[in-house]
Order: sequence, then C-alpha cells, then structure tokens
Amino acid sequence: MEYNIALVPGDGIGPEVVEEAVKVLHKIGEKFGHKFNFKYTIAGGAAIDQFGEPLPKETLDICKESDAIILGAVGGYKWDHMPLDKRPEKALLGLRYAFGLYANLRPAILYKTLKDACPLKDEISDKGIDIMVVRELTGGIYFGEKGRKETEKGKCAYDTELYSEKEVKRILKTAFEIAEKRSKKVTSIDKANVLESSLFWREIVNEYAKDYPHIELNHMLADNATMQLVRDPSQFDVIVTTNMFGDLLSDEASQITGSIGLLPSASLNEDNFGMFEPIHGSAPDIAGKGIANPVAAILSAAMMLKYSFMLEEESKTIENAVEKALESGHRTKDIAGKGEKFLSTSEMGDVIAGLL
Ligand code: NAD
Repeated sequence: MEYNIALVPGDGIGPEVVEEAVKVLHKIGEKFGHKFNFKYTIAGGAAIDQFGEPLPKETLDICKESDAIILGAVGGYKWDHMPLDKRPEKALLGLRYAFGLYANLRPAILYKTLKDACPLKDEISDKGIDIMVVRELTGGIYFGEKGRKETEKGKCAYDTELYSEKEVKRILKTAFEIAEKRSKKVTSIDKANVLESSLFWREIVNEYAKDYPHIELNHMLADNATMQLVRDPSQFDVIVTTNMFGDLLSDEASQITGSIGLLPSASLNEDNFGMFEPIHGSAPDIAGKGIANPVAAILSAAMMLKYSFMLEEESKTIENAVEKALESGHRTKDIAGKGEKFLSTSEMGDVIAGLL
C-alpha cells in the first residue's frame, strides 16, 4: 500500500526525533512492501519565524492532503514572551480543531528493563504498568463558554464544562474498542459526586456499556484516580475520561513510567485520521545536542500504523524492536544509568531500525 504522511517536525528536538521515526518507517516500508511518501511542512516557532503565524494555511493544506500527520514538538524559549494566542503551541490546538481530533490516546508502559526509572516503590512497580489513557480532546471545559464578569462577589471569571451525549458516546466507542483488544477492562473517571456534567457522563457510560457486557467497567472519582495511579497503577488497563481530567491523569500516568522520552500519543477523529506525536515537548535545553531520545517519536509512528492505517503487524514489529533495543541495554542519555554509556539520537534510531 501507499501512504502520504505530513511531517511537522516543529521546534527544538522535534526535527531530531522525527528523523528517526522516518528512518524506521522507511525500513518497515521495505520489509512489508509499503510506500510511505513524506511531505515536510512547518508549524510552531519555526512557522512564526518564517510566516509570522504558528499554523500557516500551507501547512494545513499539506496535512489535509495526507493520510496522517506526524508531529515532533513545538515551542521554545525564543517564543515564550509572545501572547498566548500567538505562541507556537497554538498550532497544536489549530491542528486538533481543523481535523476534529477528539480522541487522544496515551499509552503509559513501564518497560521491565527500565524499572529503575520508575519513581514508585519496587513492590508497586513490580506489578507492572500498562495503561491506555483515552482522553476526550475537543470538548469539555477547555472549549466551553468562558469569560469574566462583575457579580455581587466582585470581579469573577468562569469556564464551563459542557459535554453532549454525542461527544461522550464517540469517545466511549474509542475506549471500548481499544479495551476489546486489550484486557477488556475500562475505568471511567469523573467527578460525579459534585459535577452535573460528570453525572451525565456517568449515565451515558452505564448505558453505553450495556452493549459490551464482556467488558469490566468501573467508575472512579478523579481525585481517587490520582491517588490510585501512584498506589497501584497495575489495577488500570483502559482509562476513559474528559478533556481536563485526561490532561492531568495522562501526565501523571506518563511520569510514573520513568522517562518522558519514551511515550507516544495519537489524536484521532471519526475517520481514524490522526496526528501522532511524542508526549514530550521541544526540550530546548537539549536541542541540537544529538542526545534526545527518539523512542517516543518512533512509537508514535507505530501508533499511526496501527490506528490510522490498520497495519497491526507492522506496528507490533516496531514496538518489538524498541523493546529488544532496550532489553539489550541500548540507552539514550535520559535513560542511561550514572556513568553508563549512551547512544546519540540517530544511533538509537539505527539500532531500532536494525532490529526490525
Ligand atoms: P519538555 O517535554 O520539552 O521537556 C521536559 C524535560 O524532559 C526536559 O528536561 C527535556 O530535556 C526532557 N526531555 C523531553 N523530551 C525528551 C527526549 N525525547 N529525550 C530526552 N529528554 C527529553 O517540556 P518543557 O520543558 O516543559 O517544554 C519545552 C517547550 O515544549 C515549551 O515551549 C512547551 O510549551 C513545549 N511543549 C510542546 C509540546 C508539544 O509540542 N506537544 C508538549 C509539551 C511542551
């Protein structure tokens, strides 16, 4: 098969890690007989410098003509002084909005060989961590009505959490379908003890789950979930939650696995069109040094194969190669032990490509 992929390397270490994902995809293409056509385009700080805006129309057009988008990261010190609506990060919201990318998938996996990087006690991490956080990405309080006003209390500001039945059902569909292929367990996270929108969310989840009697469903309050994630993360498999709770919980889930340089993400729409990117940012502190960990970007490419192109075997082949590389002791600086030898970004990419 032939696929067109828009590459948005972005800023900082973005271009360095995206290059390694491309390297791995070329190798997978050769091995399985697929042709990946890559089109480079710019967004974020690089686009501000060149075009005066973080997400130029030209970039959007290239993405629209593609079958999927791979993004590195955007942002950096250089643009930190700019007003919020002109910052590089605005490109991310623009892309999510333009393509209706409402389903954000963030796997958090603790590789056995990297157990030492896990900040939790051995007795907890020994049980393993393999969680898929499914976060609703285009609704809820981040997109609800907001504003400021004078009330009898004086100056006030407000944001509104609003979810439609349709929005909840479509994210549940994503979560339950993923759970089917994993260990058939879904935990829905809300604040149904205080929020009307959460009560509504929970009602829809209960109704929706009736079509999946073989899937074990639990509800958990968001405050409890933050505790449970550090107390016993092994109890979770698929987590489904709102935009804001997902924002917080997916960051927590990623941190307990050790390194930010290892974790990928996918943002999908109803047609399985998606944007795939590492969860880390542009890491300006290490940009240009050749020491960034490319694994998150490489695993993001694997997610693209699985979720947008339905190439499960090809995706698994990449995941296995990453695991083998780590098991055989290959490390980038962020995951190397004290005094341990480490590989450069491109050397790590070479090792993984070589193991495919
Ligand atoms: P960050 O993820 O860029 O970096 C946090 C720390 O992790 C840094 O010490 C960095 O060196 C390290 N790190 C990150 N990725 C790594 C990798 N692949 N290999 C090795 N080490 C890695 O977060 P930050 O410092 O808070 O943000 C830096 C910039 O990135 C900011 O401008 C921020 O707005 C932006 N950002 C962008 C995205 C995105 O594009 N999706 C996400 C988060 C932050």
